[in-house]
Amino acid sequence: MISEFLTHFQSVGSELYSRGMVSVHGGNLSVRDQDSVVITRSGSRLGYLSESDLIRTGLEKDDENTRLASTELQVHRAIYRKGLFKAIVHSHPIHATALSFVRHVIHSEDEGGKLFIPEVPVVGFGLEPQPGGAAEEIAEALKTHAVVMVHRHGSFARGMTLEEAYVITELLEISCRILCLVKNLKIQQM
Ligand SMILES: [Zn+2]
Repeated sequence: MISEFLTHFQSVGSELYSRGMVSVHGGNLSVRDQDSVVITRSGSRLGYLSESDLIRTGLEKDDENTRLASTELQVHRAIYRKGLFKAIVHSHPIHATALSFVRHVIHSEDEGGKLFIPEVPVVGFGLEPQPGGAAEEIAEALKTHAVVMVHRHGSFARGMTLEEAYVITELLEISCRILCLVKNLKIQQM
């Protein structure tokens, strides 16, 4: 039953949108359910999800629903194939994305970030950002890191629940916002 997942998708989608971590049609969410993936529909609005926005398709195989799924489906599938994770949040947090332009690794300096996400790899350097791109590189990095950034694009966070992957995403954006503010303050002091 897809409806059992709906409240989780709605609450996480609404948090991401209300905090500016996705634009109106940006980002995507999924959960793994045995040999299938339940993922947001291509072009859906994460802040206003309804049951028809959740698409169930194969973890390995395409079916009649595959064409309706988010264009990032291939990345979600690759992540589930490499790890025992149950949920993925893909978003475009502004400060984290800004840092992904200029850093190969993001090291948090605030206490929460240092504790939970001390090192966030940035993957996809040298590639044009495109939906479904860098799937294997993202999946490989998520085996050992809770969240990764895709160069000039956005974040992929994984967890055992959507809420867990969301919390990691929010921690990342808070850390990156602090990093940007501190860098700006240092420049002003010079
Ligand atoms: Zn994206």
